[in-house]
Amino acid sequence: TPGGNVRVVVRVRGFLPREIERGAECLIEMNPLNQATTLLVPNDTDPANTRSKTRKVIEEKAFAFDNSFWSFDKKDEHYAHQEDVYNSLGEEFLDHNFEGYHTCIFAYGQTGSGKSYTMMGTPDQPGLIPRTCEDLFQRIEAAQSETPNISYNVRVSYFEVYNEHVRDLLVPVQQNQPPYYLKIRESPTEGPYVKDLTDAPVKNISEIMRYMKMGDASRTTASTKMNDTSSRSHSVFTIMLKQIHHDMDTDETTERTARIRLVDLAGSERAKATEATGARLREGSNINKSLTTLGRVIAALADPKQQRPGKRNKDVVPYRDSILTWLLKDSLGGNSKTAMIACIAPSDYDETLSTLRYADQAKRIRTRAIVNQDHVS
Ligand code: ADP
Ligand code: MG
Repeated sequence: TPGGNVRVVVRVRGFLPREIERGAECLIEMNPLNQATTLLVPNDTDPANTRSKTRKVIEEKAFAFDNSFWSFDKKDEHYAHQEDVYNSLGEEFLDHNFEGYHTCIFAYGQTGSGKSYTMMGTPDQPGLIPRTCEDLFQRIEAAQSETPNISYNVRVSYFEVYNEHVRDLLVPVQQNQPPYYLKIRESPTEGPYVKDLTDAPVKNISEIMRYMKMGDASRTTASTKMNDTSSRSHSVFTIMLKQIHHDMDTDETTERTARIRLVDLAGSERAKATEATGARLREGSNINKSLTTLGRVIAALADPKQQRPGKRNKDVVPYRDSILTWLLKDSLGGNSKTAMIACIAPSDYDETLSTLRYADQAKRIRTRAIVNQDHVS
């Protein structure tokens, strides 16, 4: 099937110590039978949720997503572990990559909602990125002994978009040197790309893990220096998988290429900066441009008028208005199988409602993934 909707899942994390201290209550219910997610009305006692009551009427809201991951209470039999998220989403997307499709999985949500935990995880609880890397090389190693006529080529890159600048996370940060920013180019065949970005060949699991950790360390170093960059930056981890198949009988060689993109977006509360004035704007008005533009791109793509055959999407979808949306153009509305993981905190009514509405809109987006296969000789 050439056209498919963006797969949208939601994951709720458990309470953090500060939430337990303030006496927060869980406002999320997930039905394990039909994957429905419900946002409940907060009571009067939680200071974090009373503010909204004076502004607008709040009510219970129900949502339906492709999956609802309940990671609130570890003791619950339905608790969704890192492994469960990988098994129900990551694994299937890697199947598509071996079939020759480009894929993209991105995590959306407010700061502290579990995006990095879901995408990268911790050494004890690895997330989608390390699990994808591991499974990828396990599959390659298994295939190499069974099908010697297929060879594999894997490359990795890792960059972040901060304040509309692209920074290569695989280039070590130089002490006392200003960060070096890369430019974006657009090729007629490959689309937009980052010029001079490190694109490292990797032969095994330990090599890819080393780059992954190097990039993550580079992201963290910068964020402690520059006032919590990580909540304001978007990080994009990309694996290029090339399968070269040589047919012994016909002496023909074909190549299948798949791009695996794993994106940890900036905190969604930043999207509201458009409402900010004065101090917030002086701080740098383009800090959140990529996130606000992502919202406009998703809204444009989700618009039913966009889905009519023959409609020329490129005229109306504002991909080029920000660095992130320009670079992710294909993943958002083109040749890619795409999934969005909406990460939510258990007890933030306003932010959670905005994330769930955003996710609900993303469900309507259709992409057109094709198998990327070429005869080379
Ligand atoms: P974000 O990247 O969205 O800002 P983090 O992934 O850093 O949020 O998560 C915030 C905190 O919550 C971290 O301490 C993280 O370890 C914890 N956390 C998030 N999701 C989970 C989860 N599903 N299970 C356990 N801890 C989690
Ligand atoms: Mg994070």
